[in-house]
This record gives sequence, C-alpha cells and structure tokens, in this order.
Amino acid sequence: MSKTLMVDAQQVTKSFHGVEILKGVDLSVEQGEVVCLIGPSGSGKSTFLRCINHLEKIDGGELWVNGGMVGYRLQGEKLYELKEAEVARNRVNIGMVFQRFNLFGHMTALENVMEAPMTVKKVPRAQAMAEAKALLDRVGLSHRYHSRPAALSGGQQQRVAIARAMAMKPSLMLFDEPTSALDPELVGEVLAVMRDLARDGMTMVIVTHEMGFARDVANRVAFMDNGAIIEVAESKHFFSAPRHPRTRDFLARVQ
Ligand code: ADP
Ligand code: MG
Repeated sequence: MSKTLMVDAQQVTKSFHGVEILKGVDLSVEQGEVVCLIGPSGSGKSTFLRCINHLEKIDGGELWVNGGMVGYRLQGEKLYELKEAEVARNRVNIGMVFQRFNLFGHMTALENVMEAPMTVKKVPRAQAMAEAKALLDRVGLSHRYHSRPAALSGGQQQRVAIARAMAMKPSLMLFDEPTSALDPELVGEVLAVMRDLARDGMTMVIVTHEMGFARDVANRVAFMDNGAIIEVAESKHFFSAPRHPRTRDFLARVQ
C-alpha cells in the first residue's frame, strides 16, 4: 500500500519582483514523517514553507498539501487554482510555528491556545479550555495557564505557540527556525516538545540550524540551496555521507 503524501511539491517556482526565488522545488513528505529542511540563509526555505501554508502563491509547478492543491497547475491550456474558500479550509489543517512567537500579548497562555478553536472552529468554550489545558500540560506549562506572554521566557512562549498551533488539530506542522531567536539555554526545552510530537506521529517539516536535532529526530533531511532542494536523504546517510559538494561545504561550516 502506498503511503499518503502530506506534501508533494513538483518543480515549484516563485518569484518576487521578477527575481526567481524558488527555482523548481521538489519535495515529498509522507504522513507521519519528520523532514528537516536545512540550507544557507536566503536559499528560499521560509518562502517554500509559506507556499505550503498558502501564505504565498506559487507561480508554477504543482504543490499538493494534504490532498489539496496549492497555487497553480497548468495542464495543456487549463490553469488550476484553488478558490479562497478551499484555501481557508486547507489552512485549518496546517499548524505553523515561526521564529518569533507571535502570541497575542493581551491574552493569557490559556486564552492564546483557546482562541483559534473557538473563533475558527466554533468549539464550545468549556471544551476549548479543557483541550487547551491538556496541550499546555503536554508542553510542560501546567503552572502557567494564566500568564501573559510578557511574563514568560522565550522558551515558554515558543511552547505556548506550539500548543496554540496544535489546538487546531492540524495534520501537518511547519516550523520555521523555531529556536533561532532563543537564548541557548532555552533551545533544549523547545526541541524536547518537538521531539515529543515527532514520537507521537505528527507529520512535520522543520527549518532548523540544529543539526543534532535533525540527525536524531528527522526521518529525512533536505538541503536547499539557491532556490532548489539539491539533496534529500535519510538523516543518518545525509550526515554521514552527503553526496553533493555544496551539502558537504554547508555541513563543514555549520557542524
Ligand atoms: P531563507 O528562509 O532560506 O533564509 P527566504 O525564503 O526567507 O530564505 O528568502 C529567500 C529570498 O527571497 C531572499 O533573497 C529574500 O530577500 C527574498 N524574499 C522573501 N520574501 C520576499 C518578499 N515577500 N518580497 C521580496 N523578496 C522576498
Ligand atoms: Mg528563513
């Protein structure tokens, strides 16, 4: 039986102001798989994640996320594109965690996690609260339900952000350098939460500079350079025997 593909990108292109930033990205991610996306700054990693999450429209190629198509597909003369309502429906199934935590500053941790299920999914308040508490417990913040973001450390805020994304019960989680803005001593607690999600079978695409985490947790690692993914391999092979010279160069610089 073939596995369900949660992300299937084929020759995805994207330009900004006439400059091609994604130059034909190919990547597939199976259900339950953890893929770390690594590569130099400016290579297009964030742009690609934003395309997966419908925050950017692709210019060409095909991008299927959780069975729904994103952006464009030319078949003969015919151009396929999702309608706004379909985009909105697809996005509900994708959780995203950014480098900056982007929590609502005037809300407590609990309110931050309850917000989207209540407003977007119309989950009743009592149920949203019970689920939010369970998620905050899971990320180790059972003593912080009623704290506002400003009273939390960066690592705690990022754990709230993960709980908030998980509250929508996504089928795919995207992380864009979730630990890059943290003080070094706070990185581990956030990675531990992500490791727990991975163990639980969550499908994840993670842009990260944490090579140890990628080696231990990712099923596969993809290396992006200059707008294309030029090498993908199982993580143990990726780090022990990188094939592409540019991958080898990059690893030599970051490890
Ligand atoms: P990475 O995440 O790998 O560092 P990005 O995807 O953020 O790379 O950026 C790739 C390139 O695309 C950069 O040169 C960046 O300046 C450019 N870029 C990204 N978003 C936009 C935008 N909205 N408008 C113009 N240029 C952009
Ligand atoms: Mg980036």
